[in-house]
Amino acid sequence: QTFEELGLDPRLVRALIKKGIEKPTPIQRVAIPFILEGKDVVARAKTGSGKTQAYLLPLLQKLFYDSGLKNKLAPAAFVLVPTRELCKQACIVIPNLVFQCLILIGYWLLILYCRAALAGPPDILVSTPACIPKCLSAGILKTTAINDSLDILVLDEADLLLSYGYEDDLKALTAHVPRRCQCLLMSATSSADVEKLKTLILHNPYILTL
Ligand code: AMP
Repeated sequence: QTFEELGLDPRLVRALIKKGIEKPTPIQRVAIPFILEGKDVVARAKTGSGKTQAYLLPLLQKLFYDSGLKNKLAPAAFVLVPTRELCKQACIVIPNLVFQCLILIGYWLLILYCRAALAGPPDILVSTPACIPKCLSAGILKTTAINDSLDILVLDEADLLLSYGYEDDLKALTAHVPRRCQCLLMSATSSADVEKLKTLILHNPYILTL
């Protein structure tokens, strides 16, 4: 199967080919069509299996090609990961398309976000969960804006998020995630923590295991 056959836009496929990515990996073959359809998904796949693109490609397509970005007061997607290093990795694989993407990983970048916010919020916010409550209490993000704007929430390395101590931050966020928001939970293993997050955030998810 090719990326086009999975439903990806030819413009994204061309960007991938330029980066030497020509054929989908197994997790991409399974996950991309479900995510494009708007389903909540729990996907279990090892690091190195291509799971970052498995969620980023359909996410980019939905936000930038299918519906077009709305006028917004908050990001249309949050990608939450447990560490700064993973923030960087997720942002590096985002193909060079026309959008602002901001890595928000700590205090200094929080300030950068304040500056960026003057020109409008980023389209996608890649951060650790701890930044969300910080942005809320600093007034950089408003809960009503999250409610209006957030279309996709990704929790990557979900098995680590709770063990790294992000439970309270995630709870603070999920209270404001609108019901229509599509939620994706990616993890390398299944654990009690993943189950807990699944119940906390997802609605009738499709469980994809490789
Ligand atoms: P990940 O599992 O997301 O950490 O990805 C591991 C590595 O595989 C990254 O360097 C990706 O750029 C690369 N990769 C992802 N998808 C593909 C693909 N379909 N074909 C070849 N390499 C890929």
